[in-house]
Amino acid sequence: MSFSALSLNSSLLAALPPTVNKPSRIQQLAIPTILLGQDVLALAQTGSGKTYAYGLPVLQRISQLSTSHLSAVIIVPTRELASQVSQNLAPLARSLNLRVEVLCGGEAIELQIERLAQPVNIVVATPGRLLALAQQGVIQFEHLQSLVLDEADRLLDMGFIADINALIALMPSGQRLLFSATLPESLVALAQKVQSASCVRIE
Ligand code: AMP
Repeated sequence: MSFSALSLNSSLLAALPPTVNKPSRIQQLAIPTILLGQDVLALAQTGSGKTYAYGLPVLQRISQLSTSHLSAVIIVPTRELASQVSQNLAPLARSLNLRVEVLCGGEAIELQIERLAQPVNIVVATPGRLLALAQQGVIQFEHLQSLVLDEADRLLDMGFIADINALIALMPSGQRLLFSATLPESLVALAQKVQSASCVRIE
């Protein structure tokens, strides 16, 4: 199978690195489902191509909205992963004229508040800082279309469940995508709570 068989926008495909020319298994399975707007719970290791598996279809769906509102949030457990995800997604977002912002702890919140004065379509964030910005009213989720929890098992291991529950309570119902290397009971419970009954499980 090729990327062009996945109903992806040609600008997006042109922005992929040349080494990314054949979709990985998780990409073949997740991209069509996410493009349809369905919830997905995917078992995916680092190195499986999980970032493009959710990034490509989420960006494509946002670009069809033609809005300058925040439309997708990607929550990750660490600053390192946030920067890796944003590096992967930045060229794709640029190809669709979408703006990505990274919001992590460890950076002055005032700088982030300044950057958020410009319209932003996609946020990649760690949970604590995102919640602080939302509670200050600097960031609003009312137009959110898709929420991704990347490395969801690590988010739970690192004790972020309370922050995640608080964030989800501020969000409208919409597409919820959970990507995780393992599926502990606690994650299955979270999935049952936040995802729709018709959620597609990819293992
Ligand atoms: P990830 O699993 O998203 O952390 O991706 C791991 C690495 O694989 C990244 O450097 C990607 O650029 C690369 N990658 C993702 N998808 C593909 C693909 N279909 N073919 C070749 N490399 C890929």
